[in-house]
Amino acid sequence: MITGNFPINRFKEEETPFYYYDTDVLRDTLDSLKRILADSPDFKVHYAVKANANPEILRIIAKAGLGADCVSGGEILAAVNAGFAGNKIVYAGVGKTDKEINIGIDNDIFCFNVESVSEVEVINDLAAAKGKVVKVAIRVNPDVGAHTHANITTGLAENKFGIAMADLDSVIALCRNLPNIEFIGLHFHIGSQILDMSDFVALCNRICEIVTHLRARGIEIPDINVGGGLGIDYKHPNHHPIPDFDAYFNTFRRNLKLRPGQTLHFELGRAIVAQCGSLISRVVFVKQGTHKKFVILDAGMTDLIRPALYHSYHRIENISSDSTIIERYDVVGPVCESSDVFGKEVDLPETHRGDFIAIRSAGAYGEVMASQYNCRSLPHSLLL
Ligand SMILES: *Cc1c(COP(=O)(O)O)cnc(C)c1O
Repeated sequence: MITGNFPINRFKEEETPFYYYDTDVLRDTLDSLKRILADSPDFKVHYAVKANANPEILRIIAKAGLGADCVSGGEILAAVNAGFAGNKIVYAGVGKTDKEINIGIDNDIFCFNVESVSEVEVINDLAAAKGKVVKVAIRVNPDVGAHTHANITTGLAENKFGIAMADLDSVIALCRNLPNIEFIGLHFHIGSQILDMSDFVALCNRICEIVTHLRARGIEIPDINVGGGLGIDYKHPNHHPIPDFDAYFNTFRRNLKLRPGQTLHFELGRAIVAQCGSLISRVVFVKQGTHKKFVILDAGMTDLIRPALYHSYHRIENISSDSTIIERYDVVGPVCESSDVFGKEVDLPETHRGDFIAIRSAGAYGEVMASQYNCRSLPHSLLL
């Protein structure tokens, strides 16, 4: 499949900037996921809502039958409103408030991924007050690195997430002693935008060690959740619109042998939604600087913060010019911050005021992270 054909005439009716979601790409991605999982009934995928919580996107993913992975009470409500079944929702987060825990309990979610001793105790008390028993998995900090940006590794001992392996036995014992908690398993998440499958092999090896250690003490682990983190091809969105799900799931099939009755849970975010989205903007001005030419967009870091926050690469295309002259530009936004840059030294066809620019692979961690800094409007969205 080749993507990247944009309905320019339709775009001309829209105020810019906006997020354009190609729902064919999203549906093809979900179909591919379903095909690969068809013969693995013990694998369950929960979509990580934080990657993109656009209500229409959520509805399409819920309809495809996936569960939801939430990191706040607001996300649980957004997921339920979009049609995700409560019993397919998992909920992680280091700072769940009482209000958020109650949202989870009231919606009978599948499981809380707990990250501290006090959290376990509070969940037990709040569940007791409602006369319920709540399923809990312990989020383990496996001290496994991922070859990705430092700000998006989460599984190292220095990160704030999860419970250290040394404390695992005592926290499991605590869970099993509390009357309103049902301990069902372990949860892991080592980071994001991971393309090197050996990182996931390292995770599998660590999980095998832990599960073997616990079995030796008579503790069974019915549910293992390996989190998300599968990366996508930001350089070539047209040629690789669908991530390599085969390689990803095969890594777990080969390296984590499940026992009868065990379920392996996944929490994919970026891999499901990144490639279906583009940020579409118009060129406000083209400016000749002292050493450089700048293309100044009406979209800025308030619409898509990833380049400013993580120095992330996004492919930038002029989708309305048919000029054969190629020029080199820095493509920037209008926000009063020097980091408001989408790309430096980008080769584009000769670009003019009013041209349409697509910033590709922006479906994940794009619209959800938009802000109103500089009193700017939030970007709207167009699903076609
Ligand atoms: C962010 C997050 C995910 C999803 O990560 P992706 O890289 O988008 O797949 C999954 N699980 C947890 C706990 C997360 O915080």
